[in-house]
Amino acid sequence: MRRKGLASMAAHTATTEPTDATGATGATESGDNPVNPANPAPAVNAGAATTGPGASGPAAAIDLGPAAALSCRECGHRVPLGPVFACEECFGPLEVAYDLPTGDPEALRARIEAGPENIWRYAPLLPVPADVAGKPSLNPGRTKLIKADRLARELGVTGGLHVKDDSGNPTHSFKDRVVAIAVEAARAFGFTTLSCSSTGNLAGAVGAAAARAGFRSCVFIPHDLEAGKVVMAAVYGGELVGIEGTYDDVNRFCSELIGDEIGEGWGFVNVNLRPYYAEGSKTLAYEICEQLGWRLPDNLVVPIASGSQLTKIDKGLKELIALGLVEEKPYKIFGAQAEGCSPVSRAFKDGHDVVRPVRPDTIAKSLAIGNPADGPYVLDIARRTGGTVEDVTDEQIVDAIKLLARTEGVFAETAGGVTVGVLRKLIETGQLDPAAETVVLNTGDGLKTLDAVAPSTGPSAVIRPTLASFREAGLA
Ligand SMILES: *Cc1c(COP(=O)(O)O)cnc(C)c1O
Ligand SMILES: [Zn+2]
Repeated sequence: MRRKGLASMAAHTATTEPTDATGATGATESGDNPVNPANPAPAVNAGAATTGPGASGPAAAIDLGPAAALSCRECGHRVPLGPVFACEECFGPLEVAYDLPTGDPEALRARIEAGPENIWRYAPLLPVPADVAGKPSLNPGRTKLIKADRLARELGVTGGLHVKDDSGNPTHSFKDRVVAIAVEAARAFGFTTLSCSSTGNLAGAVGAAAARAGFRSCVFIPHDLEAGKVVMAAVYGGELVGIEGTYDDVNRFCSELIGDEIGEGWGFVNVNLRPYYAEGSKTLAYEICEQLGWRLPDNLVVPIASGSQLTKIDKGLKELIALGLVEEKPYKIFGAQAEGCSPVSRAFKDGHDVVRPVRPDTIAKSLAIGNPADGPYVLDIARRTGGTVEDVTDEQIVDAIKLLARTEGVFAETAGGVTVGVLRKLIETGQLDPAAETVVLNTGDGLKTLDAVAPSTGPSAVIRPTLASFREAGLA
């Protein structure tokens, strides 16, 4: 597996044109492919910690709580905590390595339960300083885990079904979790400006988090996004720059900025802060297990864009087991994609270890990454845990959005239509055991993707304000 991930990344840069300074050719807002084998380990603004406002001198230690170092997911090479994202030895992606608390799991569980009603209750397991809860933040997390009995009946699930509804986050998508962690890294490294390349959701999450935490923000989007996304990204008062070009052009431009002196002091949450940002997804695993009463579910159905969220949910579950916070038992992780952007599902079904990039064409825009950086790791996790990766058509996505709304009163964005639609397909095709306990993720709010359902929804009738008119409409 280790080598395959690297081979895949090399294949991506070889098959995708044009390549930019970060190799982020197929990237979307999830910060896809921040690694370029031709230009490894850009030590972006690595001196910022000693020059920025958060530093107390050249020897200032970086305090990110239990985070001990960054380690390469391919070769294990370790480097000190810093705003870097690619291994200097093999160009593989770096991730946070920890000195996690050892000792009495009961004490740790009690400490978590006594913590704040947001992701900071898990601070002992995250790359954040111990006093993080006192700092200005949007404080995301502790979203609802809904016991979805009516949806379960509709789908034939008998073992228990739950919807983890992340539309309840401050900017109405799961992105608030990852951005909150990136903000703490930005503080630690002395960055003064928060940035990202985005197709919309991430820009809003960064704009809002920067406003709350007192950072300057400057986020980049393609100039021709939907009005709703542009307003959401702009309303928080930071700089919002529309780039005349495609999303790939936005990424390429951001890579140039990172390498230029203009970008000094800038933390790009999904590029040079990506190792920290990615860890935010672990909180989904922690919350699900805590909300189940410190238990692992049997199955999880997780959306895939770059694949980062899925891989970090697995990392979080493994940590809970290792720390003794949950009892060890097998669990299966299923990946969900839209058919119009299903490179990981394709590779899974073909038995490949390498993910071939595609050109996305789907209404599930938040998941539309044609060249997912974590694709090989997702394949590895699905195969290791006994899960699968499936995809659904745009029509099935819309049907699933309406099914979830009608059975549970939850209006999901298209990514939630993808997971619920895939869950239905997994059951129908015998890939997922309906007698097992399943958690399906909804990662965003339906109000963000109204266009997906608007053409097929609307008033039952438009009538004059009279009883006769109501009767005539056949609704009495
Ligand atoms: C970003 C995003 C995801 C997950 O993206 P990954 O790149 O796979 O981590 C899922 N759902 C929504 C709505 C998103 O915006
Ligand atoms: Zn390496």
